[in-house]
Amino acid sequence: MTSGALSADKHGGGAPPPRKPHIELPFLLDFVPLQDEGSTQVSRFFSALKEGRFETTRCTACDTLLFQPRTTCPECMSTELRWEELPQSGRIYAFSAMLMGAPIGMEKDLPFVLGLIDLDGVGLRIFSRFEGGSYEDFAIGQRMRLRVHTFPDGRVTYRFAPAADTFPLQAKA
Ligand SMILES: [Zn+2]
Repeated sequence: MTSGALSADKHGGGAPPPRKPHIELPFLLDFVPLQDEGSTQVSRFFSALKEGRFETTRCTACDTLLFQPRTTCPECMSTELRWEELPQSGRIYAFSAMLMGAPIGMEKDLPFVLGLIDLDGVGLRIFSRFEGGSYEDFAIGQRMRLRVHTFPDGRVTYRFAPAADTFPLQAKA
């Protein structure tokens, strides 16, 4: 192949090369991370979540509490981190609703609510999807509690739902 041919392919307006058949789009568009030890160095976060614990890493060099868990501290570049359990409650700082245009795989969930939670006592503001109500059911400052969400294939993620102490009628969980 000559460089002239390459140039013609790039700028000639011809049809793009055919997609390689072995690329599986569902995997490439899977937004839930692989969670086992062979796939991620923070697999402990997911195994803890499956057991009902909410954990993250703290840098032992500069004492910064990091979320999500890291293998290297973005503040000081230290790799000396230790695991630490987080509180599972907090208050809504801000929230919104996704009404359309959800990422692939989440279309069936529409509409859903998402926002920022100030975790109790640790100075962390984290992003999460909300459960247990529609947009009108939430308010800034409302108390929320962590809930573990399990996907059909066994992977997990965290979400937040109204805490029982502010919504007694939803206190079943
Ligand atoms: Zn650090």
